[in-house]
Amino acid sequence: MQFYSTNTPALRASLQEAIFKGLPDDNGLYMPLEIPRLSDSFLKNLANYSFQEIAFEVANALLHEDIPASDLKKIIDTAIDFPAPVVQLDDHTCVLELFHGPSLAFKDFGARFMAQTMSYFNRSEDKELVILVATSGDTGGAVAAGFYKTPGIQVVILYPSGKVSPLQEKQLTALGHNITALEIDGTFDDCQALVKKAFLDQEVTRSVRLSSANSINIARLIPQSFYYFEAYKQVMNQGKPVVFSVPSGNFGNLTAGLLAQKMGLPVAHFIAATNSNDVVPEYLSTGTYTPRPSQRTLSNAMDVGAPSNFARMLDLYCSTWNIMKSDISGYGFSDAATIEAMKEIHARYNYVIDPHGAVGYLALKKYQAAHPDHLGIILETAHPSKFIEDVESILEKQVPIPERLAVLHDAQKVSVKMNTQYDNFKAWLLGHF
Ligand SMILES: *Cc1c(COP(=O)(O)O)cnc(C)c1O
Repeated sequence: MQFYSTNTPALRASLQEAIFKGLPDDNGLYMPLEIPRLSDSFLKNLANYSFQEIAFEVANALLHEDIPASDLKKIIDTAIDFPAPVVQLDDHTCVLELFHGPSLAFKDFGARFMAQTMSYFNRSEDKELVILVATSGDTGGAVAAGFYKTPGIQVVILYPSGKVSPLQEKQLTALGHNITALEIDGTFDDCQALVKKAFLDQEVTRSVRLSSANSINIARLIPQSFYYFEAYKQVMNQGKPVVFSVPSGNFGNLTAGLLAQKMGLPVAHFIAATNSNDVVPEYLSTGTYTPRPSQRTLSNAMDVGAPSNFARMLDLYCSTWNIMKSDISGYGFSDAATIEAMKEIHARYNYVIDPHGAVGYLALKKYQAAHPDHLGIILETAHPSKFIEDVESILEKQVPIPERLAVLHDAQKVSVKMNTQYDNFKAWLLGHF
């Protein structure tokens, strides 16, 4: 499969190039040149396939020219080694739990698949690949867990000292092995500036094989389409039109759903659910796109004022607003409404949902007011214990922490402390790799 840049359709890259570069030179985003349709017999018989078999069929349709089937199977079996169960709350409301991976958030799917494909393409290199990541908290955890013990790859994570939650810090600093955490005495922007500088420094790039693990990497987008098929499989026997409500920030998750639909998954409609950072719902209702600085909210992984994957959404719809809005409805909600929704879901269904999932619930209910016969699947993007302080104070009850997160409490933090001087960072990089 060739990939093109959304900014310059004639600018092409192979899968390998698209994965290692992350972004095309023109600052567009990579998209697959063709989106193949899966066979009707596969789509009708999803129930006969395991999640890993579904993931393989979807990935193979896109990538069979780039990765032989037996290798792709190994990549999938290693990356997608946890389930994506649908929990039914009532006749028309379901939750797709995407938090059963190592970092308890849906980003595990993308991070793990990217790690395995990078490792695969790196297999014949004798030099290690060094992934540089600046994080303000959450993404770093998924990347660290995703690349943990991946052969041939070292991960260096820069995070702002004292500015990530204690548990997030443990996710970055307690793994060890091929994961190194640099604790920077500065802000997230300082961390990002150091990373950017290293990529532009030829003295560094000549001696260290650098790559990034950016959230817009095409190898993170593709695996996110797998679980739309897996979710549909679990509800298709109910015979209702299926809508997905997607709590959104950078809109990678929703874009992956659109990809699944283009590959033949019979999704009736998508719902773009946001907090008060609602530039995409605003675009869907007015036709005008106005990116703006983000506002801080309770569902903070969705605090994005200029969503990076919006360019991919426009590309999929050839920038045609009225077609996009006939497929996708968008709604934004306040923190106050989100808190009420968390309480309502708990009281009505005895189910604990996190603030991001609660935004998805609100958007689904708004859509269903006019479409009561549709079966809604809310993407629960993170485990509620990731936001334990907020969730426990809102629901006035204790939220159990899954074992894989709980063990981090007692794990030892190991970090390399560093100031914001680029020369120090550079010397460290050159000295280590
Ligand atoms: C990243 C994230 C989102 C937003 O996903 P996008 O693909 O950026 O729209 C939603 N919820 C949680 C918990 C996340 O970590």
